[in-house]
Amino acid sequence: MIFHPQTYSLPDRAGEPFIDSEEIETLLEAHAAASASEVEAVVARAMGRERLALRDVAVLLGAADDDRRRVLEAAERLKREVYGERIVLFAPLYVGNRCTNRCAYCSFRADNPETVRRTLADTEIRREVEALQRAGHKRLILVYGEHPDYSPEYIAHTVRTTYGVRTAPAGEIRRVNINAAPLTVEGFRTVREAGIGTYQIFQETYHREAYAHYHLGGLKRDYDWRLTALDRAMEAGIDDVGLGALLGLHDWRFEVMGLVRHTNHLEACFGVGPHTISFPRIKEASASLPAASPVSDRDFIYAIAVLRLAVPYTGLILTAREPAEVRDAAIRYGVSQIDGGTRLEIGSYAAAAEPGNETELGTRQFAINDSRSLDEIVGVLTAEGYLPSFCTACYRRGRTGEHFMEFSVPGFIKRFCGPNAILTLAEYLVDYASPEVAVRGWRAIGAALEKLSPESAAQTRLRLDRIRAGEKDLYF
Ligand code: SAM
Ligand code: SF4
Repeated sequence: MIFHPQTYSLPDRAGEPFIDSEEIETLLEAHAAASASEVEAVVARAMGRERLALRDVAVLLGAADDDRRRVLEAAERLKREVYGERIVLFAPLYVGNRCTNRCAYCSFRADNPETVRRTLADTEIRREVEALQRAGHKRLILVYGEHPDYSPEYIAHTVRTTYGVRTAPAGEIRRVNINAAPLTVEGFRTVREAGIGTYQIFQETYHREAYAHYHLGGLKRDYDWRLTALDRAMEAGIDDVGLGALLGLHDWRFEVMGLVRHTNHLEACFGVGPHTISFPRIKEASASLPAASPVSDRDFIYAIAVLRLAVPYTGLILTAREPAEVRDAAIRYGVSQIDGGTRLEIGSYAAAAEPGNETELGTRQFAINDSRSLDEIVGVLTAEGYLPSFCTACYRRGRTGEHFMEFSVPGFIKRFCGPNAILTLAEYLVDYASPEVAVRGWRAIGAALEKLSPESAAQTRLRLDRIRAGEKDLYF
């Protein structure tokens, strides 16, 4: 990967705001009618593994309709070159929806009387995790509102509780990520010590005025405190961080520029960019303000393609907020992680697994549009030639914050990620898949083995035999 250091109007200093709305708007205006040759030049640089500058991203965002096809094709190719067919699978687990903020788009906001408030007790967390393990999940993201009840110590406790759950035949959660309100450096140290994977937080909108319009009360009103949260997380030693924007609050092009600028900022300050980027579109939520700048399916998929070219080594996450058709289409152009079997009502994984044993569920945060089970998702992905992965190896081998390794060591992904995806999928097929999905899955594994180097394929086959014989958790 070739990096060209960029200079921006606000210098990159850890803990200090770095978004200059005017600078972003000026770039977008200057390239609003980018020519075909300008677009082509940027695409060529991205395909040559040059890191794009913010100006280049503005050019892609200003491409005429006819030139968008070129960008989509390039993103599809780059994605295949970097990620192969792998798609990482996870599930969200909502721990509690108490919240002191008033985000106008969210049903959890403090002044919404329709919301049933719940925080899972430890026994309930265990039951939820057991239900998720029995579906075959190995990676979770725990989600919390912003509330004094959800202190760093409490968050750390829920992470440890989650790691402590085991179910037969092979149930364990190997990576617990969190999505929680911004903490102090000290607070981040506390949650890091519980062994979290990624700390994820969304800026919602990078546009300061739009941010003020939607965030009506509570600590979240402070744009800068949120913007610098990942700086504090990294200062506290959390290597893997995830950023995001909630699309629909402001012009989506501006948000894509904000996400790329945020990535540049982390790279400039800490030598490593975000592990993941999320870009949810606002969905219907109880008694909430609708999106002021709705994003069409077409623009949404184009935004994903532009991000893929701009930050080729950062995971892109697409959640069950989106319907199955959009998810299936968007994966081609750049998405590398999706959730499966998602339920957002608090306490609902266990309730669904044990009918007749329902307790009152907490309200869900917003409507989901893809309610397929994990088994169905694995079935669809394998039928379409993808390789579902439950891999958690890098984090457990200490290979975190590793994007620069990926750039500089050719074949890193082929050597580690491909074989580990195969091994974790095999484990899922042996322990959890339905018979039809197992047949498709082994076929996908056969195809994936063909794409490995002979040596790597041989080593992977040996481990596959051990997994078939009952061994668990084998990885490179
Ligand atoms: N309370 C924490 C916070 O706000 O950062 C974390 C949890 S919040 C439950 C996770 C994310 O859900 C938010 O950052 C926001 O982007 C997203 N969200 C909120 N309301 C939404 C809606 N109506 N549709 C889609 N996503 C929404
Ligand atoms: Fe609370 Fe997060 Fe919802 Fe805002 S988005 S109201 S902080 S749960």
